[in-house]
Amino acid sequence: MINSTVKCRFCDTPLRHTFADLGLSPFANSYIKWEQLYQMESFYPLQVYVCETCFLVQLPEFQRPEEIFGDYAYFSSYSESWLQHVKLYTDMMVKRFSIDPNWMVVEIASNDGYLLQYFKGKGIPVLGIEPARNVASAAQDAGIPSVVKFFGVQTATELADTGKYADLIIGNNVLAHVPDINDFVNGMKILLKPKGIITMEFPHLLRLVEEHQFDTIYHEHFSYFSLITVKKIFDTHGLTLFDVEELPTHGGSLRIYARHSEDSSKPVRRTVPELIERETRDGFTNLKYYLNFGDKLKEAKRNILEFMIGLKKEGKTIAGYGAPAKGNTLLNYCGIRTDFIDFTVDRSPHKQGHYLPGTRIPIFHPDKIKESRPDYLLILPWNLKEEIMGQMAHIRDWGGRFVVLIPHVKVYA
Ligand SMILES: [Zn+2]
Repeated sequence: MINSTVKCRFCDTPLRHTFADLGLSPFANSYIKWEQLYQMESFYPLQVYVCETCFLVQLPEFQRPEEIFGDYAYFSSYSESWLQHVKLYTDMMVKRFSIDPNWMVVEIASNDGYLLQYFKGKGIPVLGIEPARNVASAAQDAGIPSVVKFFGVQTATELADTGKYADLIIGNNVLAHVPDINDFVNGMKILLKPKGIITMEFPHLLRLVEEHQFDTIYHEHFSYFSLITVKKIFDTHGLTLFDVEELPTHGGSLRIYARHSEDSSKPVRRTVPELIERETRDGFTNLKYYLNFGDKLKEAKRNILEFMIGLKKEGKTIAGYGAPAKGNTLLNYCGIRTDFIDFTVDRSPHKQGHYLPGTRIPIFHPDKIKESRPDYLLILPWNLKEEIMGQMAHIRDWGGRFVVLIPHVKVYA
């Protein structure tokens, strides 16, 4: 059903076209405690629109972010590979732009200082901006100065008023989570020094579409960007993209580099027009391209269920590995509960002992796999499948097999 009152968060055009309708779903990060098991749970529409004017793929804002992030009690348990990723980023940036202790590096959604610690280690002044108080205080304890705030024009102006400007603004996996994208990008324009640099990483819409990554859609994730659309947004706010890189993280991300449009000291690299041309060729400026995704989504669901039903008919046991937000979208959309998956396991002690939202699948310590010896282990964070298959290689001792469902159902014997 189309609600004609919702408007594009960037250009204000009424949203009339559905990109993906995943039905009703609970918030993907609202893990259920044992004592909540017999209580009701809130489900919200998970319907993604595409704007016919600017082609921003988006969820309408219907819930204040404070409510979503309110019980965001979990500290992100960063995987080794992610820490390695941000360490390499730090080294690359310092070298490429000759960053020295005269720079001020600001990260938006800086979490516990997982990234800024590497700049700090090189003697470069840093400042984190992080809305979750408990997470920000963990960063403070680790010696990373952090302000507890949502980022936007107001926060940027407050910092600028006290003489705090940024030579480098970093945002990793935050742009997609911002409800008011114009206010956010405008805030960066205010905070950035005249010759400053912005880098942002976010999942690339092209990969979501091509690899059927529908499970990366969840309520906390408001926008899904192509380079074409993100460039339009930055251009509008007087910021120019001067480079872009494609990264393997999160199933395929972009890292964009931006500067003030007035700053001619950093010419635009060929990477930007080249990727825009590729997206245009693929159909990203054609509404029909987006409208086709709904059929792919339904087909993926049918294939997944067909496979799961087949296993259960053969009397096989299936356990899950991981309890990521994306797993919750997939399981809720497909209607996969303990009728298919006995339990899942997660290394995070903050998730163990809880239940997945909506599906109420219990989460245990990974040792549970050894005890129960399932025939199939379904890897929910498919972007980490190599890492996980390495850690859990022992399931092969009893003939266990790994399963990944995105982009297609695939069994690894
Ligand atoms: Zn729009």
